[in-house]
Amino acid sequence: MANPTGWKPSMEQDAKGGAAAAEAPGLGGAVRGLAYEEPLVFEHGSRGRCGVSLPPPPADFDAGDLPAALVRPAVDGLPELSELEVVRHFTRLSSWNHGIDTGFYPLGSCTMKYNPKSSEALARLPGFADLHPLAPAELAQGALELMYRLERALSEIAGFDATTLAPAAGAQGELTGLMLIRAYHEARGNPRKKVLIPDTAHGTNPASSALNGYAVVQLASGPDGRLHPETVRAAMDEDVAAIMITNPNTLGVFESHIAEIAAIVHAKGGLVYGDGANMNALLGVARPGDMGFDVMQYNLHKTFATPHGGGGPGSGPVAVKAALAPYLPLPLVVKEGERFRLVTEARERPATVGKLREFWGNFGMFVRAWALIREYGPDGVRATAELAVLNANYVRKQLEGTYHLPYPTDSLHEVVFDDAQQKDAGVTTMDVAKRLIDHGFHPPTIYFPLVVHGALMIEPTETESRETLDAFVAAMKAIAEEAKADPEAVRAAPTRPVRARLDETRAARKPVLRWQPGMNVE
Ligand SMILES: *Cc1c(COP(=O)(O)O)cnc(C)c1O
Repeated sequence: MANPTGWKPSMEQDAKGGAAAAEAPGLGGAVRGLAYEEPLVFEHGSRGRCGVSLPPPPADFDAGDLPAALVRPAVDGLPELSELEVVRHFTRLSSWNHGIDTGFYPLGSCTMKYNPKSSEALARLPGFADLHPLAPAELAQGALELMYRLERALSEIAGFDATTLAPAAGAQGELTGLMLIRAYHEARGNPRKKVLIPDTAHGTNPASSALNGYAVVQLASGPDGRLHPETVRAAMDEDVAAIMITNPNTLGVFESHIAEIAAIVHAKGGLVYGDGANMNALLGVARPGDMGFDVMQYNLHKTFATPHGGGGPGSGPVAVKAALAPYLPLPLVVKEGERFRLVTEARERPATVGKLREFWGNFGMFVRAWALIREYGPDGVRATAELAVLNANYVRKQLEGTYHLPYPTDSLHEVVFDDAQQKDAGVTTMDVAKRLIDHGFHPPTIYFPLVVHGALMIEPTETESRETLDAFVAAMKAIAEEAKADPEAVRAAPTRPVRARLDETRAARKPVLRWQPGMNVE
C-alpha cells in the first residue's frame, strides 16, 4: 500500500485518454497531459519525517508551566511528511480539479464567471487583509468606508433603501430576508404562517422558509415557464407572510407578471422576497426594487465575481425597502460627518433581528465586489447583463434542434435544454454531462430545475469569448452525434480524467469521510 516515492505518472490513464481521443468525434486533444495517480496524504512520508524546523525550547522551559487545559497527550496517526511532499501532494490534487481558471464552467444558476486578478490583488492589500475584525473604528476608516460605499452601491443597483452585508452566502441571505419578514409581521401583531414559492425555485427557498417556521405552499408555473397572476391570486390569503420569487427564474425566463403578482401579494398584506442569485441578467437594466420586491439577497460570489466553488467563502448581502430597514441585522456601517462607525449594539437598533455570524461578513468578498463595481462603472455593470444574456442566447440558438428546449420562452442569462432527443438512443443528461468532461468542459447544472425532466441548464456568463462558446457548442453537437452513432461510448464517459465515472449514489448514501489505518478505500 505505502508508496515510498509518493507518486507515479498515470501512464495507464494517459494511454486510455489517448485511445478515447482517437475514437471519439470532436475530442481534439482538449485535455491531453500528464496526470499523476496520487495516494492519500496518509500513504506518503515516513515516521519521524518533518516539514518544519523549530528551535529547541529555551533552557528554562518547563512543560509543567503550561495551562493544564492546553496540554494533551501525544497525537498519533498523523501523516509525517517533508515540506516538498506536502507541496507536491496538494499541487497534484489541485490539478485534478476543474476551475474557472482552467476552463469553461457553464454551471447554470451558479454564474461561474471569471474572477479578475486585479480584484484579488486589492483584497490582499495589507490594510485590508491584515485588519483585525475588532480593530477600533478610528483604525479602520478605509475598510468601513468601503463597506459603506458597497452597501450604498448595492442598494442603488437593485433599487432598495438599505443593505446588510453580513450574510455569508445566498442561502444565509435568504434566511436573513425571511427573518426580516417575520420580524415585520410580528411587529404588527400579525404573525403569519405561510410562504408561497413557485416550482422553479432553488431548494434553498423552501429551506429558508422552513427554518423561519413557515409552511411552504408550492405554486405551479405555467407552460411558458412563468408564474401566472391567477395562480398567485388563488393561493394568496392573509396567512401568507411572503412570496419568494427568483427573477429571472431558474429556467432563465423573466417573470413578466411580476408587478401584478406583487400587487396581489401586497393587497393582502404579504411581502415580496426576491432571490437575487440571478441578478447577473438584470444589472444596470432593471431594478427588482422597482418591480415590487420588498427584500432581496445578492450573491456577490456569483454576480460580482468573488470566488466561489469548493464551499466559499461567499457573500449574500440583503437589500430592503425602508419598511424593513429597522430589522436589519447588526453590525451596520453608519456615516457621521466624515467618519464611519459600526453599529454593533441592539440598544441603537432595538428592532434588529440580531447578529447572524461572527464578525462583520466576509470582508475580502466586499473588497472584490467593490473593485469590480468601480472598475466597470455604470456602463460596464450594464454591459455585464447585456453580454451575459447575449452569450446565453447564442448558445441557445446554436444548440436549438440538436437538444430539446422544454420551454420556447425567450432566455435571459441561462438556457435550459433536456435529453428528450437523446433518450431514444439510451443516452441521458447524466451521460452527456460526463462526456463533456472528456471534451475539457465542466458540465452544466443537470436535473435542475426540477420542473424539467433531465434538465441541462447552461449559463455561459459574460466573461466567455465567442471562441470558447463555439468550442462548447461543437462539443455538445459532437456528443449528440455520438449518442446516435455509438451511445455506448457516451454512456462510458468520462474516460479522460484521472477518475472515471464515480458511483454517486454510493458516495451520497455511504460516504467515507475519514481515513483510518488499514482501511480499504476501494
Ligand atoms: C446559488 C443560488 C442560491 C444559494 O446561494 P448560495 O450562496 O449557494 O447559498 C439560491 N438561489 C439561487 C437561484 C441560486 O442560484
